[in-house]
Amino acid sequence: MNTRRDFLHKLTASAIALPVLSAFNSQEKKYAPAKKYDGPVLRVAICGLGSYGTRVADAMRDCKQAKLVGAVSGTPSKLTDWQSKYGIPAKNCYNYETLDEIKNNPDIDAVYVTTPNSLHKPLILRVAKTGKHAISEKPMAVNAKDAQDMVDACKKAGVKLLVGYRMHFEPKTLEVIRMRKAGEMGKILFFQGLTGFRIGDPTQWRLNKQLAGGGSMMDIGIYAINGARYMVGEDPIWVTAQETKTDHEKFKEGVDETITFQFGFPSGAQASCLSSYNMNNLDKFFLNGEKGWAEMVPSTGYGPIKGRTNKGELDFPHVTHQTVQMEEFSAILLQGKQPPVPVDGEEGVKDMKIIDAIYAAVKSGKKEKLNL
Ligand code: NDP
Repeated sequence: MNTRRDFLHKLTASAIALPVLSAFNSQEKKYAPAKKYDGPVLRVAICGLGSYGTRVADAMRDCKQAKLVGAVSGTPSKLTDWQSKYGIPAKNCYNYETLDEIKNNPDIDAVYVTTPNSLHKPLILRVAKTGKHAISEKPMAVNAKDAQDMVDACKKAGVKLLVGYRMHFEPKTLEVIRMRKAGEMGKILFFQGLTGFRIGDPTQWRLNKQLAGGGSMMDIGIYAINGARYMVGEDPIWVTAQETKTDHEKFKEGVDETITFQFGFPSGAQASCLSSYNMNNLDKFFLNGEKGWAEMVPSTGYGPIKGRTNKGELDFPHVTHQTVQMEEFSAILLQGKQPPVPVDGEEGVKDMKIIDAIYAAVKSGKKEKLNL
């Protein structure tokens, strides 16, 4: 069992975990810099005030390096609610018609798009034109071409584009990555990623191909895809995939219910993953190497993430993922910090290329090559 001292020692010794060290108070629960912070602050507007946008807004109350200052919504009552709930000035509130006027607002640095998946691209393209930094929720788009268009547009506009990959800052996840990078697990041979839940309301946008771009793969399978890459530490070179659909009424054409998929990596390592909208209790990563292993259950939920390795329990404190993510996004956007695992648009494009190939492999029944 690891102790707090082991934890601090590991953090001190580990370059990847260093940013997290100063961020815990004495209870090790809340993410809050120990000293008074007087550095640059990222001023963020959230666009699409739904369930996840609200979670990010709540988490940002504990941020020091990032501040929620604006909102974009198609629902006027949400804008007035957010003004009183989060202290957002009316002059920083916009709707989908007036969004482009953010260009003239010097009090907003970045816009974080938390709408249904297919709206990320058109909104991010507009954000890029305002000259503000762009943050997209995952999946960053509904296919690789759209994702690449977003990267190109942000590059052309001279703004940065980040994707809300919150697990890239999670301490237990970072510790497993540190162990793997340090060679403590030996040569990596195998990864398993299981992601799924039983989805309810058949009328929700997540089951609408136009808005979701697909089904469970777009929503949660992407965690296994992205996780396979940061756990194994390589990009896959081929994929095979098989789809099972038990309810054709709820999961219409183009909306996947359950897909199993397999990756091959350049080193010879392999991965076997499952993404489902029809099974509960699926949130598990397993990484196996010649000398060691790591198991995380749950592995990608809001936490606490739990895990153990061949060395024992991963006894790292729980942090609110969205708080840490926004602190780190601030450092990346305003101070040019390099995150331990990339969160930029190019990283998002890779996952979208893999999703395209998974859908192609389901159709072809063959091994699809990947060139990331
Ligand atoms: P919600 O349905 O709760 O919220 C989406 C919001 O988008 C709506 O409330 C609405 O806000 C706005 N919107 C604009 N156009 C539409 C439309 N045509 N249909 C529906 N909503 C619309 O979704 P979530 O918050 O759960 O998901 C939003 C995004 O966040 C998705 O891309 C999802 O994948 C991602 N997500 C990421 C998570 C993570 O852990 N990283 C977890 C959960 C979701 P308004 O009324 O203000 O316009």
